[in-house]
Amino acid sequence: MPPSFRPLDASESPRFAQPSTFMRLPHSRDLGRLDTAIVGIPFDGGTSYRSGTRFGPREIRAQSSLIRPYNPVLRVSPFEVRQAADYGDVDVVPVSIAATYARIEAEIDTLLTHRVFPVAIGGDHSVTLPILRAVAKRHGPVGLIHIDAHPDTWGDYMGEKHFHGTPFRRAVEEGLIEPSRAIQVGMRGSWRGEDDFDFQERHGMTVVPIGEVKARGVASVVERWRATARGPVYVSFDIDSVDPAYAPGTGTPEVGGLTSYEALGLVRGLCGIDTVGFDLVEVSPPYDGPGQITALLAANLVYEFLSTLPPVVPA
Ligand code: MN
Ligand code: MN
Repeated sequence: MPPSFRPLDASESPRFAQPSTFMRLPHSRDLGRLDTAIVGIPFDGGTSYRSGTRFGPREIRAQSSLIRPYNPVLRVSPFEVRQAADYGDVDVVPVSIAATYARIEAEIDTLLTHRVFPVAIGGDHSVTLPILRAVAKRHGPVGLIHIDAHPDTWGDYMGEKHFHGTPFRRAVEEGLIEPSRAIQVGMRGSWRGEDDFDFQERHGMTVVPIGEVKARGVASVVERWRATARGPVYVSFDIDSVDPAYAPGTGTPEVGGLTSYEALGLVRGLCGIDTVGFDLVEVSPPYDGPGQITALLAANLVYEFLSTLPPVVPA
């Protein structure tokens, strides 16, 4: 059966026309027909510096309208081999991280119960924890590929357990990820103290600092995560892993990061990995540069990720 969900054809409807969904896919919550859902999580109540990621999903959708359906690098038309739609957003509660977490977890749980693959667009990085809660409920402790400038394994923040700097510490504490199958790529910037990465060492998590990515290249990182992130793997991509020269629209920018091209290469390197969920987080449109370059890159990274998923519909 050919897929029923396809992006609008730009030769019939101009790219800037019609309501803004991801790549102008149909908006649908038909869990009986979908196998892949692009879901926005417009929450920035977990930020500790600049906010604005609540506007991330909306702007990423807007910028995604330029992307064409065939991916010549991965040689796939992702919407010909999967039933993917824009699922809309989780109705987050802007004034409550606890209530928002409950809603995110319930929504992702619903998707997974119907065997729909969740592709989440944040939102700040705090949203990953409730996604992981739903994912681990279904798959048990998962492997993790985490691309970010920051480890996001810090402790409490001003007496609070949850913010965007701590989802992966909580995920390890709650048994949602298996630390020996977790790899963090792109780490850089100044630390709070010399013990910032003790947590990783204690739990046997693999850390690939940006210097190693630059010295050894994207292919070597991809090899590394094939060896590390075995079994079902969750992938979390923080846009601040990319250099602020390419991705200024984010909450906690760190200089000296990935190029856009390296970021695309890393995502393409997920081909063949048994991924069970994905998020792209921390795009903050109010801080974006001219041409909304951060949201444009983010939209392309989501598209590249969709292109790595194995076919569900026979081609
Ligand atoms: Mn992060
Ligand atoms: Mn970060």
